Amino acid sequence: MATIKKYGFVIDVSRCIDCRACLVACSVENNVPQENTRIWVHDLQVQGEFPNLSHTFLPYNCMHCEHPPCTEVCVSRATYKDSQTGLVLVDQDACIGCGFCVEACPYGARYLDKQRGVVDKCNGCIQRVNIGLQPACVATCVGGSRMFGDLNDPESDVYKALRNATSVLQLDYEDEQVDTDPNIYYINATGVQNPLTLENGIFPHAPQYTIAQEGWKKVLVPLMGAAVGAAFLVQAVYFTKQLIEGENEFEE
Ligand code: SF4
Repeated sequence: MATIKKYGFVIDVSRCIDCRACLVACSVENNVPQENTRIWVHDLQVQGEFPNLSHTFLPYNCMHCEHPPCTEVCVSRATYKDSQTGLVLVDQDACIGCGFCVEACPYGARYLDKQRGVVDKCNGCIQRVNIGLQPACVATCVGGSRMFGDLNDPESDVYKALRNATSVLQLDYEDEQVDTDPNIYYINATGVQNPLTLENGIFPHAPQYTIAQEGWKKVLVPLMGAAVGAAFLVQAVYFTKQLIEGENEFEE
């Protein structure tokens, strides 16, 4: 039986050499403006004690969260979690460039493209994946650190890599309102201090919601949901009434 796809990244931390070929390939593939990027590589500095020292790098991009706070605040419903792939995508034709989602992302993984007036971020190179190619960052990763695929498919590279990893780490952000549950898994980081426990840590940070966004999330979105539900109910009642009247006329 076919399972629902859940695309995600697995990054073998022991293989990243900070060459940033992924970043360049991504920018070229996706026409990312020079002042922006869809990928970052965080330097975790040298850790350990002599002679057991290690220098580790943590590449990241949109985490394609299971519960993405960015989609909840989108006023035009332009950003959404795709039910076919599990990827968090942006319909840039629908995006109005308000930037609420940029602030709501705990990972700083989105940017506002000032030239086009729309929000942009990693889309898992879905345009390549749909024709059987790997995302540009994965295809270019010299160290073989980056992997991408269906985390639900036991035959996929990502599934196998996770199963065989010596350690697995997710940079999960959790508070009373949100548990992001990211779909980037860092593997083989044995001996590396968990970046979530570092003082002056990198990310994630609490989603930033303005008062307007809070209003949108807590009042307008439920209101709109209720309005759509009510409209549907009225239509259903009207349709049933028409059906009964039609049948009565037919019998007469
Ligand atoms: Fe949204 Fe940020 Fe999560 Fe990506 S990492 S899905 S932009 S909240």
